[in-house]
Amino acid sequence: MSQCAAFIACQSPFRSGCLVPGNRGAWYGRFCAERIPEHAIATMAAVALAPPRRIVETVARVCTLQPMTHPRIARDAASTGVTVHVGTAVRSVRPSTAAVDLTHARGTTNARQAIFCAGPWADRLAVSCGAPREPRIVPFRGAYLRLHGADAAAVRANVYPLPDPALPFLGVHLTRTLSGDLLVGPTALMVPARRPGAGAAETARDLGETLRWPGTWRLALTHRRAAWLELRIAASRRAVERTARRLVPGLDLSRAEPAPPGIRAQALGRDGTLVDDFVIHRTERAVHVRNAPSPAATSALPLARLIADEADSI
Ligand SMILES: Cc1cc2nc3c(=O)[nH]c(=O)nc-3n(C[C@H](O)[C@H](O)[C@H](O)COP(=O)(O)OP(=O)(O)OC[C@H]3O[C@@H](n4cnc5c(N)ncnc54)[C@H](O)[C@@H]3O)c2cc1C
Repeated sequence: MSQCAAFIACQSPFRSGCLVPGNRGAWYGRFCAERIPEHAIATMAAVALAPPRRIVETVARVCTLQPMTHPRIARDAASTGVTVHVGTAVRSVRPSTAAVDLTHARGTTNARQAIFCAGPWADRLAVSCGAPREPRIVPFRGAYLRLHGADAAAVRANVYPLPDPALPFLGVHLTRTLSGDLLVGPTALMVPARRPGAGAAETARDLGETLRWPGTWRLALTHRRAAWLELRIAASRRAVERTARRLVPGLDLSRAEPAPPGIRAQALGRDGTLVDDFVIHRTERAVHVRNAPSPAATSALPLARLIADEADSI
């Protein structure tokens, strides 16, 4: 785990207007700093905020806390009668007033209660348990460029653009990694499938659900300009470089290489609203994490406490 300065660049007076209490920018406003710290970088920001140091971690390391990879947790679980099935997709869920039946490749598990944290598939499992149809998950592909070692030295802090309150995506930002590299991205491109490498049938099902959801069309109509911009950024490396240089003028990305992309499970309301907060639904015998957007990974432990409290009240 490493600590790293973070820096939020706000490129226009209009955007700095976001920083009033009561709207989404207020979270950032809380961290308002008196001056740009020396360790930050040169930027053309009209307004710049320096939040306290942020912790940089890798998901792989955090995941070593999971029972499947952490032998002590697995041992504790086994000693209290818990069975762990790894790599086992829940195919169907049948709730009743006293229990939930989960059908999967290894049989059926009859549980007094269930907690579903299914990311891109969260809506399907929740709806099959009787939870509201809204929000639905729409998949967005996020790609990055990676600048290695010495080439990344010009940027010594994480640098974020101030987000547009209407579009909670962070936009292209700069992230220092534990190994000293610099990640530039992500792009945000709506894609047909919820999983990279999905086959034709799976892609058709995912795409069908996305297209049938009224929120998809409302989102596209309301944010035509932003959608066009994101499409350009996703399609053109040059556009990513230009966007990054708005945060750090002169940043040389000529030696940057593509980094592995990810799929962001974006919850979308029926009215086309991109849901930017955690959404947890409760059905009779289950808790459903319907939306856990970034920084859900960073805040996984407090989020787990919140989910456990919900489960206790079933
Ligand atoms: C490119 C990218 C960069 C990100 N960067 C950050 C960051 O810097 N900081 C941060 O905090 N967050 C970041 N995030 C967001 C973070 O990854 C998510 O907020 C977090 O992973 C959400 O956790 P989750 O448990 O809800 O879903 P997931 O992490 O998607 O986990 C869901 C799990 O459920 C499993 N599953 C699904 N369906 C079933 C089923 N039927 N049966 C059994 N298992 C099932 C899936 O296989 C998966 O393992 C990033 C996301 C992306 C895409």
